[in-house]
Amino acid sequence: MNTAVNVKVGRNFRCAVDMIPVRLCRFYPAWKVLLWPSVCYLSNMPLEVKPRFVVLYGSQKGQAQSIAEGIAEEAEEHGLIADLCCLNQNDKYNLEKERAPVVFVVSTTGDGEPPDNALQFVKRIKKRTLSPDHYKHLLYALLALGDTNYANFCNCGKTIERRLRELGAKQFYPTGYADDGVGLELVIDPWLKGLWNSIKDTLSKMASDRTVQLKEDSAKEIPESFLPDVQLNLLSIADKQICEPDSKYPSSLAISDVRPASASTVSSSAPKTQACSEGVPQVSLAASLTSSLPPLSESSLNVPALPPPYLDVTLQEADAVEQAVERLSKETCNEVPISKAVQLSKGDSVKTALLLELDISAFPSMTYHPGDSFDVFCPNVAEEVDHLLHRLGFQDQKNHRVQISLKHNTKKRGAQVPPHIPENVSLLFLLTWCLEIRSVPKKAFLRALVEHTSDSAQRRRLQELCSKQGAADYNLYVRDPNLSVSELLTAFPSCSPPLSLLIELLPKLQPRPYSAASSHLRHPEKLCFVFNVVEFPACSGRPTGRRGLCTGWLFDLVNPGLVFPEKAELALPKIHVSLRPNCSFRPPSDPSLPFIMIGPGTGVAPFIGFLQQREEEKKENPEAKFGETWLFFGCRYRNKDYLFREELENFVSSGTLNHLKVCFSREDRKDEEEPPSAAQPRYVQHNLLLCCRQVTDILLRQDGYIYVCGDAKNMAKDVNETLVEMIKTELQVDQLEAMKTLAGLREQKRYLQDIWA
Ligand code: FAD
Repeated sequence: MNTAVNVKVGRNFRCAVDMIPVRLCRFYPAWKVLLWPSVCYLSNMPLEVKPRFVVLYGSQKGQAQSIAEGIAEEAEEHGLIADLCCLNQNDKYNLEKERAPVVFVVSTTGDGEPPDNALQFVKRIKKRTLSPDHYKHLLYALLALGDTNYANFCNCGKTIERRLRELGAKQFYPTGYADDGVGLELVIDPWLKGLWNSIKDTLSKMASDRTVQLKEDSAKEIPESFLPDVQLNLLSIADKQICEPDSKYPSSLAISDVRPASASTVSSSAPKTQACSEGVPQVSLAASLTSSLPPLSESSLNVPALPPPYLDVTLQEADAVEQAVERLSKETCNEVPISKAVQLSKGDSVKTALLLELDISAFPSMTYHPGDSFDVFCPNVAEEVDHLLHRLGFQDQKNHRVQISLKHNTKKRGAQVPPHIPENVSLLFLLTWCLEIRSVPKKAFLRALVEHTSDSAQRRRLQELCSKQGAADYNLYVRDPNLSVSELLTAFPSCSPPLSLLIELLPKLQPRPYSAASSHLRHPEKLCFVFNVVEFPACSGRPTGRRGLCTGWLFDLVNPGLVFPEKAELALPKIHVSLRPNCSFRPPSDPSLPFIMIGPGTGVAPFIGFLQQREEEKKENPEAKFGETWLFFGCRYRNKDYLFREELENFVSSGTLNHLKVCFSREDRKDEEEPPSAAQPRYVQHNLLLCCRQVTDILLRQDGYIYVCGDAKNMAKDVNETLVEMIKTELQVDQLEAMKTLAGLREQKRYLQDIWA
């Protein structure tokens, strides 16, 4: 038996809704029937009326986007509909008129900048002309992603939140600040868990407010006879769906029916033998990437929902496919020759530091300023691509053209063909240049892999790694060692994912940025940069160490020239780069102002550019007044990794650099028994402390600048804390006051950072 409900949609529009079974009508809560019908088929078509909310994301590397997509997908399980948009799709949402709750998921990039696709939005809401009640109708929740290794933690989220509040918007759920430095999921998981009840409470509250209004309106506009139906539903709320205990992890049943193979074969006390998929016996002494111990191996698991597949991928034989790397970049991407490669580190230095010089004479668009960086486009490692092709069973079709389209019946909200995959490319090109096959698999990815794994022990372990209960193992064996998807597939040999899954779930292969270590004024035709070859040690799941993707690739490109310098010119190849101007990390526009540079290790790179530029400016304008310059540099050993030693000493001789403070963290001490004291600076911050008076004078009394470049994980934090201490001492203020003073310098763009993990 069917009934008819009349739902008022919009001001003067009534939608006659047919075909709701009475059973459903009774249990359908008022807020679902009355509010924001998102799909409303007229006449005798079936009806689906669900309250909606909006999910907006700003994402640089896809993390925030995938969380936002997850929220949108999960909405359905909660009987809701989510409108999912990227913040830059401002034709698809309208916050000025939005009456539904809005959930923001935003990351932060660079030195606290918004992601590229949130820049315009942040700019718009920052306009001072907006009135304080501009968003007074808006109800929002916000999840900010950041990394406490960087100074401006979650700055984009905080900026958006501050402006929303200033413009009158009301928060309906406390903001989550997730920290990639310790594991995003520590905040994200509980935040997501609590989100749903808050959205529903908010919708209920809005529904009851609207009901009052509806009653008033309906007295005027809706014939009396229609009202009872609606009222009846309003009074009979019994929403089964919202009572589900933990719908993010819905399927304990489906999982506990898989026998925990390792539970029966591995115990914490004694080594047991376990058959791996090839039937080769393995001895498990301890937990590892591929096996677990009780209690995990014996628990039932809550695993995330399976991400719905949304792409159809086919391979077509093709005569010609485009392989132009330039198509990967929206900005101008130039193929420039490497004109010189020099190893800066010496002897048995722990890290290998290289300087590369690019010949940009043929590219006038590559004019750069000191402080700018540029992107290097690097391919995935050929052997890893080959390995993947084998695993996917496509080694003979690698030159086929990849055709990607959306599944016509996909349930994924906001589904789109990944924009980072150009049309008309071969499978080989796609795996080599478009997808980050080295990316650390997210839990959703592991979850999806379970479906394509035949060996039950391996299935179980993948389930554990993506489950709530296995979070610690995930961090230990996957996240912390930066395990790549390729390595994971090697460790789980019975897992054979389809190509479409990799395209759906692997992020874009990002170009790597490097700071210019030269001045265009001195070398108009050259662009130099410096890097350490990143080394990943062996670990469970990675039998031998490997190198960083880009730095390892660059090293291999120039290594013949390093080994045989006489053949260097012949051997040096071309690479694809595009400029990334940095408008704030620049020497002071007023050259008479003093500035301090802190750049240990390869962090010294941009300061070589700063100093070369200063030297040229001095030559061009010898009469002008130039402020004092300070450089704090640090490395392990004077004779191994003191990068640019000669050049820096020359800057001092020429008077371009007034103060060079260098420390060596591993140099032998005269008396090793003694702990490092202020007289024996080990790290840049120790030297900074020794110059406390001069440094604070420059910053607090001479309108000077301070620049920090290099390692975000330790150095930038330590320097920041030291600066706070120095300000405390110098101004005789408390911690909070000192932090405020430093924040003020940051705000004035006189304390600038260019740091990386
Ligand atoms: P990837 O394969 O991308 O691996 C790097 C990742 O692995 C990082 O997440 C890192 O945290 C992690 N990691 C590193 N070592 C280990 C380990 N042993 N175990 C586990 N995980 C590990 N770098 C420079 O050297 N010089 C520069 O001038 C420079 N300028 C930069 C400017 C900007 C604006 C930015 C954002 C970054 C800059 N970087 C610079 C960093 C650079 O872009 C790359 O990230 C770096 O060179 C590593 O790239 P990769 O592809 O070799 O390593």
